[in-house]
Amino acid sequence: MEHLFLPDTSIEIHREIQTGNIRHVVFDFDGTISLIRDGWQNVMVPMMVECLQAETDTTESQEQLEAIVVEFVDKLTGKQTIYQMIQLSEEIEKRGGTPKDPLAYKDEYNRRLLPVVEERIAGLAAGTLSADPLRVPMSLEFLQSLCEMGISCYLASGTDVEFVKNEASLLGVAEYFDGGIFGALREYKKFSKAMIIQKIITDFNLIGSELLIVGDGYVEIENAKEVGAIAVGVASVEDNMYNMNADKRERLIRAGADIIISDFHEGTQLLNYLFNS
Ligand SMILES: [Mg+2]
Repeated sequence: MEHLFLPDTSIEIHREIQTGNIRHVVFDFDGTISLIRDGWQNVMVPMMVECLQAETDTTESQEQLEAIVVEFVDKLTGKQTIYQMIQLSEEIEKRGGTPKDPLAYKDEYNRRLLPVVEERIAGLAAGTLSADPLRVPMSLEFLQSLCEMGISCYLASGTDVEFVKNEASLLGVAEYFDGGIFGALREYKKFSKAMIIQKIITDFNLIGSELLIVGDGYVEIENAKEVGAIAVGVASVEDNMYNMNADKRERLIRAGADIIISDFHEGTQLLNYLFNS
């Protein structure tokens, strides 16, 4: 696809946008600001393959099941985790098994992911791990600049809200989200990124170019475009053994990202462009 680079940067401009109006910014968390949960696929995929083997009479091989799981997990990334578990339940049912409540699978997944995340969190809390390598490069500085400019920032994540709040505070970024920190709820129909975005637009009576959405998932980029907001896609690198989301940049472009960055190392130039400064 044809695109321009912002002069002397690697920032890709895919569409001409109305700059200079932004007053509110909504950020995704995992993969956009936080790397604490990086590698989660390495936990979710084997768990689901195990469930399909243990809870159905399928004759599919481990590799076949893995390929199926990788495909739907990847497709549903960015929505709340529960949707991946709902799909797992459906796959179990399709193969003649009787699935548990999707929430039970989600609890089991969180239980397995916890040691990985907890090790990082414990290290952060104890000060043996530095927060810097667990943040997407220069994301803290980017948030600080927005804050100094008086722009309202919000966090909206598909991860459970209590985890998001804790992890944001350990990463030293929580204080910059004066608009609020939002995440998945057990009553999952009461939260979506689209709902948060809609509420901001309604509360402040915004036009599209006054709202910026920043995220590494196609979900938030699509949500942004649905309401005419400006969308910055963050094509950050992920660590997972399944090569999932390897085409992240292309996916973000397909979802309608106006701008693509790899991280925030050219945050100053990006802000100068977005705010005409
Ligand atoms: Mg993300």
